[in-house]
Amino acid sequence: MSDHGHDHDDHKHDNHFEPIEARVRALETILTEKGLIDPAAIDVIVDTYQNKVGPRNGAAVVAKAWTEPDYAAWLVNDATAAIESLDFMGRQGEHMRAVFNTPEVHNVVVCTLCSCYPWPVLGLPPVWYKSPPYRSRVVAEPRAVLSEFGLELPAETAIKVWDSTAELRYLVIPMRPAGTDGMSVEELAKLVSRDSMIGTAEASGPAVSAASGGASK
Ligand code: FE
Repeated sequence: MSDHGHDHDDHKHDNHFEPIEARVRALETILTEKGLIDPAAIDVIVDTYQNKVGPRNGAAVVAKAWTEPDYAAWLVNDATAAIESLDFMGRQGEHMRAVFNTPEVHNVVVCTLCSCYPWPVLGLPPVWYKSPPYRSRVVAEPRAVLSEFGLELPAETAIKVWDSTAELRYLVIPMRPAGTDGMSVEELAKLVSRDSMIGTAEASGPAVSAASGGASK
């Protein structure tokens, strides 16, 4: 039980949650039996962060930025207010900054100290985001780490690593994929994965199924 996903291979898989879930369930049972927690309250919290806040919120922000230049400019100047205007607000999202990918600069987000993450727009952080190898290596060798995620950037693209803090959380605005001119905001949002808003992936092209994670054409 000491091994729950800090190997590099786990970056590409999210199928190593079961042992953790079992431990969480066991802990919840013990705490409930001792009268220390109310499982209904836990369910509300879990539902909130799994269903109400989550990466679809961030994807809506990105798709709006792609289609409305005024909104993109607002994100640049005051991301907190621009995001709150869509009713995405709350804990760990009080102070937001949006960083825009360009052909010249690719942005990637980490919290080197712990696991600071913009909950209202991305939900709960993936396990790898909290892992010590990601937190240390993405700063020291970002290009190698992104390559392990399957993201090969052109050599001329600079990589900028942003270190989240309790005071400031970052949302990466990936580049709008080519071939998406006629798409609606809703269709565009489906191209925006969680990882593309952390910076460990790009937005999917229109021919790739959003659910596949871009593994194949
Ligand atoms: Fe942190």
